[in-house]
Amino acid sequence: MPTNVRSGFVAVAGKPNAGKSTLLNRLVGQKLAIISPKPQSTRNRVTGILTRHDAQIVLLDAPGLLDPRYALQEAMRRHALTAIRDADVVLHLIDATEPSPASLAEAAGLDHPPAAPVLVVLNKIDSVRDAQRVALAESFPDALLISATTGEGVESLLDRVTSLLPESPFLYDPEDISAQHLRFFASELVRETALEQLDDEVPYALACVIEEFREDRSPVYIRAVMFVERESQKRIVIGHRGARIRAIGTVARQKIEGLVGAPVYLDLWVKVLPNWRRDEGAVKRLGYGTTEEHGS
Ligand code: GDP
Ligand code: MG
Repeated sequence: MPTNVRSGFVAVAGKPNAGKSTLLNRLVGQKLAIISPKPQSTRNRVTGILTRHDAQIVLLDAPGLLDPRYALQEAMRRHALTAIRDADVVLHLIDATEPSPASLAEAAGLDHPPAAPVLVVLNKIDSVRDAQRVALAESFPDALLISATTGEGVESLLDRVTSLLPESPFLYDPEDISAQHLRFFASELVRETALEQLDDEVPYALACVIEEFREDRSPVYIRAVMFVERESQKRIVIGHRGARIRAIGTVARQKIEGLVGAPVYLDLWVKVLPNWRRDEGAVKRLGYGTTEEHGS
């Protein structure tokens, strides 16, 4: 290991749809966080790990900072606040195509600004016209301009982040890209696929739990259950003669095979758990209630 390396936690905070998951995936060079044009697609904190020769950056993808209206959103907000509290550096990611962004403390309804330094990062700069770019640079002189999609500005961002991290030996094995389990990513890929294939209110009522994950078999056997809140939603997810759930299963299986690197048999089910989003116990059981500790 080189001497004088820096390591630390970097929280990526920002409103839903700012591009947090896209940035995280670009940084770790692999698809970890699910990406969707529908807001609120990120419910759990995802830790991505980026190891350079001089630094190890552990990324925390904070779910959207929302007004908590029910138990699930409260859990999401707690995740985001914990990530910000634990961080050595906070990236406040702002969609540069949105008018008049607020400060992080305002946007997140924080009582105090975070203790860690906050870098304002204007994302989606690829969709911004030149004139607007100039205006943005004037209103946010300290902001970094990036495109999580094209990668523009991302190297400079990493240099800036590295300079703000404490000197510390690497916190994780440099080969690791994430401290979370394959199981979690598999459940997120099922949920992402369902989000892609279903519209309107169903996706927000949908949670996915991996009940069995047998890597000792070939194909790898995975039993996944999608939970919805009502019978009517279950009928939509199943579709006419099971067509919808089969289509979700086929696409999700292919994605999971890419992740696992082996053939997978995905045994996909849908169950009703009435109003689970309003039930704190259910939110916890579905894995959204607790914040895992750093490290594994
Ligand atoms: P999150 O809710 O903050 O995690 O946002 P996502 O990463 O899921 O992205 C929300 C939407 O913005 C998706 O449709 C992305 O493809 C899009 N997006 C993210 N970054 C960029 C970017 O740099 N440029 C453009 N044009 N679109 C982006
Ligand atoms: Mg996200």
